Formats: sequence, C-alpha cells, structure tokens
Amino acid sequence: MIVALGAGVAYLVLLGIALRGRTGHRPAEGWLIAYCAFSAALMGIHGLLLLNPGVGLPLPDQPLALMGFVMSVALTGGLTLGYLAHRGGWLIGWGILVVAWIGAMVAAWVMQAPAVFSQQGGLWRVFAAQTSLSFEILAFGWLLLALVLFLLVARAFLSESLPLYANRILFWYVVIPFLMLGDALAAWLSPPYNLVGYSVRLVGAIAAEYGVLTHRVVDLRDSARRVVSFTILTLATGALVLGGIIAALNVPVGDLPEVGRWLLAVGIALGVALIVQPVNRFIRWLLRRLIVGDRPDVAEAIRLYGQRLGSLIDLGEFANAAIRAADELLGARRGYLILATQQGPEVVLEVIGTDRAEGGKSGRIALTSPIYQHFLSTGRPLLQYDIDYQREYHAAPQSERSYFSSLEMDVYAPIVGDGRLIGILALGPKVNDDPYQPTESELLAALATQTVTALENARLVADLRALNAEISSLNEDLSASNERLARLDAVKSDFISIASHELRTPLTQIQGYADLLLEMSERNLLTPQQTIEITASLRQASQRMGEVIASMLDVSQIDVENMDLSFVETSLASIIKLAIEPYSDAIHQRNLTLVARGLRSLPPIYGDYKRLVQAFEAMITNAVKFTPDGGKINVSGEVYERDDQGQPKTVRIIIQDTGIGIDPQHHLLIFEKFYRIGPTALHSTGSTKFKGAGPGLGLPIAKGIIEGHGGRIWVESEGHNEEKLPGSAFHVVLPVRPATMGAHQRIQQLRESANEPGGTADSKAGNKR
Ligand code: ADP
Repeated sequence: MIVALGAGVAYLVLLGIALRGRTGHRPAEGWLIAYCAFSAALMGIHGLLLLNPGVGLPLPDQPLALMGFVMSVALTGGLTLGYLAHRGGWLIGWGILVVAWIGAMVAAWVMQAPAVFSQQGGLWRVFAAQTSLSFEILAFGWLLLALVLFLLVARAFLSESLPLYANRILFWYVVIPFLMLGDALAAWLSPPYNLVGYSVRLVGAIAAEYGVLTHRVVDLRDSARRVVSFTILTLATGALVLGGIIAALNVPVGDLPEVGRWLLAVGIALGVALIVQPVNRFIRWLLRRLIVGDRPDVAEAIRLYGQRLGSLIDLGEFANAAIRAADELLGARRGYLILATQQGPEVVLEVIGTDRAEGGKSGRIALTSPIYQHFLSTGRPLLQYDIDYQREYHAAPQSERSYFSSLEMDVYAPIVGDGRLIGILALGPKVNDDPYQPTESELLAALATQTVTALENARLVADLRALNAEISSLNEDLSASNERLARLDAVKSDFISIASHELRTPLTQIQGYADLLLEMSERNLLTPQQTIEITASLRQASQRMGEVIASMLDVSQIDVENMDLSFVETSLASIIKLAIEPYSDAIHQRNLTLVARGLRSLPPIYGDYKRLVQAFEAMITNAVKFTPDGGKINVSGEVYERDDQGQPKTVRIIIQDTGIGIDPQHHLLIFEKFYRIGPTALHSTGSTKFKGAGPGLGLPIAKGIIEGHGGRIWVESEGHNEEKLPGSAFHVVLPVRPATMGAHQRIQQLRESANEPGGTADSKAGNKR
C-alpha cells in the first residue's frame, strides 16, 4: 500500500517536472505528461484499494490492473512514437493495433464468459487460471506490441547518421523493457507481488522522463565501455593481489622464525605492489586500444596542427589542410572550413576548400541570431544536435537552421578573431560513429583558436591576390582602352584628311567644269555635244559627293545604334543580284570573273531589302577593287545552322576573291569606321579601279546592317600579298527570322503612328496590335 501510494506521489512529482520542463517542441512531451498523469491516478486508486479493500469501488482490483495494463501499454507506444518524433499515420497505426488487441480479448471473454463467471473469483480467473484464451491473447498481444516498439526503435537507430541522435534513440532501448516488463509484471503477479512490477515501471518512467526532457542523454555505448573496462581492470588487479596473498600463504616456511615469516610476507606484498603498477598501466593501454578508444593528446594534436598549417598561405590549400588535420586528429569522417564574412547585419558563410567537400555551399546568419551569439560570446563549439534540440536555438531563423543541417556536420567550432567571426571549423560524424566527447570538443575549440592567425593571413593573401588580379585586369582594360583611344584618335585625324580628300576631289572637278562651262558659254564656244559632256561630268562628280555624304550619314546612324530597318520577306539571291549589278560593267572591263553559287536554294529571310543590298554592295565593290584584272570573285550561299526541328535557322554568304588579301592584324580593324589600310593619301576615289579605296566606311556600314539583322560578319584571309594574291573571304551569317525584328517593327509602328496627324503614338500602336 505504502509502495503504491509512494509510487503515486512519485508519478505526481514526475508529472510536475514534465509540466515544468515542457518546451512545446518535442512531440513526446505530451505523451509523457499523459503517461505520468495516468500512472499517478492508477497508483492512487491502487493504493486506496489496498488500504481498504471494501472501499466500494465498482471495480475489483484485477480488472483494474488489467485495464491499467492495457492503457499503459497503449501510452507506452504513444510515448515511444513521440520520442522517435513520429506523428500522424504512425499513431493511427499504433491505435489500430491496440484496439485490435483489446477487441480480440473482449471477444475471447464474451465467448468464455459463462464458463469463467460461473467459477469462483470471476474475472480474476482470466489471469489466475492461465489457461483461458483471453490470457493467451493478452500475453501474445503484449509480446507483439513490445516487438513492434523494439523494431521501430531499431529502425530509427539504424537510419540515424548523427551519433548524438543515434545515442538518444539507443537510450530508449533501456526505457522500453522497464516500461513494458513493469506493466506485464504488475498485471501478472498477484498482489502484493505486483508491486514489483509497479516499481519496475516507475524506474522505466523515470528513465523515460530523463530521456524526453534531458537535452543530451548519457552516452550508453561509452558508459558501457567504461563499465566493462573498469571491471576488467579491477578484476585484473584483484587477481594479482589475490595471487600475492595465495603465494604468501603457500610459501613453505619450514621452521622460519616469526620475523622471517613477516619479512617474507612484506617482501611478497612489495613485489605485488611493484608489478601492480606496470601491469595496471599495460592493461589500461590495452583497454584503450581495444575498448575505450584513444583519448586525443591535446598538446601534441595542437602542435601537429599548427605545424601543418603554419606554412600555408593559399586559402584553398589552407582549408583542405586544416580540415584534413582536424579530421585525422579527432577521427572525423569529413569536415568543412567555412569562411565567415560580415556583410551589413548578416554574416555570409561559405564552405571553402574543395578537397572533399562539394564546395561553394553558402548561407547566411544574422548578427542577432542565437547561433551567431553563441559563437561570438562563448567561442565554444556548437553541436548540430544542440541547434536542433536546444530551446534557445529554436529562435534562430529557419533558413539558418536548415543551412546548418544541410551541411550534415556534427559539431561547429567558431574561429573568432578581433571580436568577429571569421570562420567555422565544422566536423562531421566520427569514423567510429561515437558522439564527440567533451574533451574532443575542447580540442576542436583549441584547434579553431589555433586557426585564427593562419586563417587571417591566408585570407589576407587571398584578398591581396584578388586585388592584384583585379588591378592587372584593370590595367589590361586600361591599356586596351588606351590603344583603342589612340587608334580612334588616328582614325579621327584620318577621317579629316580622308573626308577632305574624298569631298575635295569631286568638288574640284565640279568647280573646274563649272568654270569651263561659264567661260565657254561667255565666249559662245559651247557646242551642244560639249554641253552634254560637261554636264554629265558635273553630274558624276556631284553624285560621287552625294555618295560620300550618304555614307557618312549612314555611319553616323550606326554610331547611335538606331539604324532604321524595315523587315520584309526577301530572297538573298535577288539581293546579291542587285548588289552585283552596278559593277557588271567594271567586272567586264577589268576582265574579272564573278560566279554566284547556291543562292537560289537558300530559304527566304526576313530583312531590310535595301540595306542588305547596300551591305553586300560594299563587299562586292571591295572584292572588285582589291582583285587585280583577270581575277575571280565567288559568291556562295548555304544554310549555316538548323533548329531542333531541322528547319534552317541561319544562312551564310561567302564573298571570296583572288585579290591582294588582308593582313590578319587588320581583320577586325577594317570593320571600324574610317579605318583604311595604308596611307590615306594614296587612295584614289575611283570607285572600281584596282586598289581604288573609298572613305573607309563601306565595311563598318555593312557590319552595322548585318548586326542590325542579328547576324555576324567576319573576314578570313591568309595575309596581304600583292604578288601571291592570297585573296580574302568575307563571311556573312544572317538569321532567317531576326530576333531584332520585333523591336524594329515596334519602333517603326511608333514612328509611323507618331507621324500620322490626329493620333498619339501609343493609341495608334495599340490599334495596330
Ligand atoms: P573603303 O570604303 O575604303 O573601301 P571599306 O571599309 O570598304 O573601305 O574597307 C576598308 C579597307 O579594308 C579597305 O581600304 C581595304 O584596305 C580593306 N579591304 C576591304 N575588302 C578587301 C578585300 N576584299 N581585299 C583586300 N582588302 C580589302
């Protein structure tokens, strides 16, 4: 009775502790509270029944014990599932099992009811007789449910990779037998022996409460190893001492005087004492190797670590070496060195050193985060387990907590320098799957401290290197820009001389012819034939001037990148035909052969017809100009790229000549405005004469047009040689449907609608859509 009431009080105390220690984050807490409350009530009723068997409760004690048993087993299941953090479906499954169990028992009772109730003792016989079907169901169900719980715990244990979690789960293996066996004994044994069962159950409940509420449960494996090694050590020493005693007793002393006997005994005792020490040490060493495992030698480990890292200044190498050293010294499977850089109110974390890590895993923690606060204020390592389990870290943002759990590390040691977090040394599970012991955490903290200066140096070097690289690339950019500026400057002065030359030549002609016309008409010497000739020359000269001016306008349009293009479906064959036409006379006169191939089979493309003619004209006129008499010009076309469906995506036109060729160093420059190869004064303005250059605007305009269509243009030529005539090939790639088309058309529409009277640009454009 006392025991029962005492147990009731104990459960009440447990209930109080459970209520106080509640965090609201652990699913087992609710179950624990329910279990304690139920048990307190059960024990209370039980105690009262024992106190006064005739108290008048409607239930006799055996059925009460039976109901308590079933209820308790059900609650044990809930508690276990909660401890393993299973919810929902698992609980329903457990519920179904228990209900099936009760159902089967009730069915058996009902079947046996008349036979059992007619006997003396009523329901108690269900237990006492031990023959009835319901007892077998009861026992079998209990066994089955216990097995289910054991398997669930085993499953959770095996699938857990983090040692501290695994250890936590392992702890439940101690709890379940107490709870389940306690329940069974309480129900099985007849009073007062059933109190043994209730006591066992109470022990289980205390263990369960410890497991649920304690943040870090005892390391069972480690404790077991220590107990075993302590036992072995004690037994071995005991055997040695015993050996000494037996030896002292059994030495044939003969007729040795009393003093002699004592001296002998003292001698043996001293002998035993002498060998006990080394034997003890040897056994300790053996046990450490075989059972307990080596404890790291902190001073030696730190010395080794410092030695390995001292000379490394490359950040990546440093990270790899640091991790490797830490892994080896602490027996971790893997690790990361995480670089921490403060950015505003946050610290950016980045895994560096890609030796074993995938690298690049980056995350952020806020300066206000409890995790960061822990690192900075304590400088102590933090366990992943703590982040997941300890109440204070639940306040950390979910993103931070998931970042840390995504790293799959066990322990994080902050590297703090100058009051700032500069890095984190993170280690994963140990090779032997043991949790990190406090001494190992100490060592890790020491290693992290040891890393501060080396890491700062390595970081400094990395920053300097980055800065250096940046400066060199800036330098490169600068010298490239300088070169470009110098070239543009030269181009500008060239332009002035070319423009004046290009414009002055026809202007001089015009002036000359105009003077001639005036003089001859004053003297009345002008025949109608002469008038026709002079005006024709005037016209040619002014036309040339007009052409030069038009080119300049075109090129200024490319400058502001708003070349007006109107896209229509057009055929490249007819474009090139039109581009060649103006030069057919010159080709004929200079005995050149122009062959066009493959153009008719090209698909129609969308493009600005006039502008494309202009572009190809520039290339054909160049081919004519830079190919000596009797040379060849080939124009060919082909589908260049196809899309996924095999439809033509781009087409390529190649204009190849057997002319003087272009030096590779000019291959890009000739597409720049006003760039002409060779001294500007040597150029003539005759448009189709051999080497008769223009103002150096043809190719830039062509490039502007081609690129305005979303295409590309480039030249291929072995070099410039006026004797060997290596020739040049101009390649033009044009998309069949230019991506730029939409934008151009939209601009076009806007322009058109803006020009139409009585309508705003937007509304008209909107109407057209
Ligand atoms: P221009 O108006 O002077 O012809 P371009 O821009 O068309 O100017 O050409 C620039 C320079 O590129 C020409 O002066 C010439 O030196 C060189 N060039 C262009 N096409 C050819 C070619 N097919 N063969 C050799 N040189 C060429």
